[in-house]
Amino acid sequence: MNPLLDTSALPRFGEVQPEHALPAMTELIARHREKLAELLNSGTVEDFDALIPPLEEMSHELSRVWSPIGHLHSVLGDPGWRDAYNECLKLVTEHHTEVSQNADLHAAFERVSQALPEDAPAARRKLIEHALRDFRLAGVALPVAEKQTFKETRQTLAGTQARFEQNVQDSTDSWKLDIDDAARLEGLPPPIVERAAQDAAAENQPGWRLNLDYPTYHAVMMHAVDRELRRTFYRAWATRASDQADDASWNNAATIERILELRHELAGLVGYDNYAEYSLATKMATTTDEVLEFLGELASRTRAAAQRELDALAELAEHPIEAWDVAFYLERLKHSRYAVSDELLRQYFPVDRVKDGMFALAGKLYNVTLSPAESVSGWHDTIRYYEVQNADGEPIGGFYTDLYARSGKRSGAWIDECIVRKNLNGESVLPVGYLVCNFSPPDKDGVSLLTHNDVVTLFHEFGHMLHHLLTRVDYPSIAGINGVPWDAVELPSQFMENFAWTYDVLKEASGHFETGDPLPEAIFDKLSQSRYLGAGLAMLRQLEFALYDFRVHASYEPALGPRTLALLEQVREEVAVVPHPEYNRFPMSFSHIFAGGYAAGYYSYKWAEVLAADAFSAFEESGIFDAATAARFRAEILEIGGSRDIMQAFVAFRGRKPKLDALLRQSGIGKAA
Ligand code: ZN
Repeated sequence: MNPLLDTSALPRFGEVQPEHALPAMTELIARHREKLAELLNSGTVEDFDALIPPLEEMSHELSRVWSPIGHLHSVLGDPGWRDAYNECLKLVTEHHTEVSQNADLHAAFERVSQALPEDAPAARRKLIEHALRDFRLAGVALPVAEKQTFKETRQTLAGTQARFEQNVQDSTDSWKLDIDDAARLEGLPPPIVERAAQDAAAENQPGWRLNLDYPTYHAVMMHAVDRELRRTFYRAWATRASDQADDASWNNAATIERILELRHELAGLVGYDNYAEYSLATKMATTTDEVLEFLGELASRTRAAAQRELDALAELAEHPIEAWDVAFYLERLKHSRYAVSDELLRQYFPVDRVKDGMFALAGKLYNVTLSPAESVSGWHDTIRYYEVQNADGEPIGGFYTDLYARSGKRSGAWIDECIVRKNLNGESVLPVGYLVCNFSPPDKDGVSLLTHNDVVTLFHEFGHMLHHLLTRVDYPSIAGINGVPWDAVELPSQFMENFAWTYDVLKEASGHFETGDPLPEAIFDKLSQSRYLGAGLAMLRQLEFALYDFRVHASYEPALGPRTLALLEQVREEVAVVPHPEYNRFPMSFSHIFAGGYAAGYYSYKWAEVLAADAFSAFEESGIFDAATAARFRAEILEIGGSRDIMQAFVAFRGRKPKLDALLRQSGIGKAA
């Protein structure tokens, strides 16, 4: 039997090979297509129990088989898995489109919705509501001609977005700076300089060749003492894919107009006034005004603090601060005020100590125990598996950790679902997840030391994992992180980060790698004070992006012609405190919104941060280990998945709607208007 199709227990990672992927997915999808047709032809799908459980079973099974394929593709970086993944992705996408545009299925959902009794459980109501919404957003109910237009517009949009990204990539790749005077590299980290020397040598050039990849750009802006070098890099970065670039071959100005036009059309076809409204249909925020007011209020309450930060930088620099000075002088200020080095901190954070402390925290808050299961094997010998149990020993679920960088492994940190919780027809399946990071691998003594930044990352991902594991929802499509709006899904993770900035937690989650001593409080205090240095400036920058993104979609009017730069200028006048040179063409490389999933959704970062900070402030008020507060957070937020309106859930936890104050206070931006 194809080991991928064995869904009786955990995936058989020891046996699964890339060649199993396509046959497994092909067989499964064919089987599901038949089952779906049978179901719809059976003439019995008039009520919830006849329609939903079989559909949930199918998508659960599909995700169970698909999950290890996507996962191994990400963590192994093996060419065989890449091909297998790409082949399967095509099948899965096609299948998804087919289902989401199936008019008979849609009609069945409509009938079930009508037949749903008044007193139906909230989860059932929510599940149907989500499904109908997604059908509508996929254009299922449109007349045939418009349905076709919708499909074509979506395809054209996907292609245009891909071109946007390629233009950014090509423009970025085309830029180089050759340097022959070592003095100009002063301050840059050695690995960046070494790579620049290698890149020059590879071209038979003397000196150093600097590229415009993000690590180099970032290092120059933070560390290059040569102000002119920073200015040059800033200009190159801020003009990528624009008419102002050194080579203007990849100008995205027209691409942006086309993307906005296509999105506006799509939104119009399914009944929205603009794409911002379309975007909000699946989010926690309800109206465009609500989002604009949210961003506007955050901005106005942050400006004074940001201006003070800017003044402090100017004082240190002894000249007015330009856009290419901000990161550099912030870094200097941080070192002069709170010298705590990563190297010193790392000595206190051996990964196993941090994990033990973090698991102990979960135990304290939610009454769960996490214990390693040695017998479960993964896809590499550094993989560990943990079982999670409730206080009474009842198993809740489990998760794999894959913590260390390896060649071929995708960078960054994330969690993913291996198995989603399901409880249907008397059969219950527990959730299982993957928690993946890219920390420094253990040394020859088997010790891996984390920076504090790594510790925060681990807590963040663990927050997502608890959201996935602690769910009590029976239907996989709304269990755990499924069905949770995009602007709320980072609530549990950003919430958890706060504990990594709390001394009572860190002293349990730290232990010097030689002496075992916990992190001294004096070092923690400095670390804690450095947390929000430049917070006001960073906040305004994010708000500028978010406001631009939202307004450009909300106020799009085909008749008005291209307005994107004028709009950006307007936003900056209202929000920014750092001056921007006229040549700045930031939108031309704003891939998050023009190529990625953040269109009219960039505000989500801040939205979720406000929820997380406000939720954490409830713990600050009651004592951060307060059992009643934690129990309420677990019950109202972590357990509900997408089964409930998130605003209602938040109010049930907090006793009121979210307020901005906690985030502003925690960021040191203050309460003053
Ligand atoms: Zn996250």
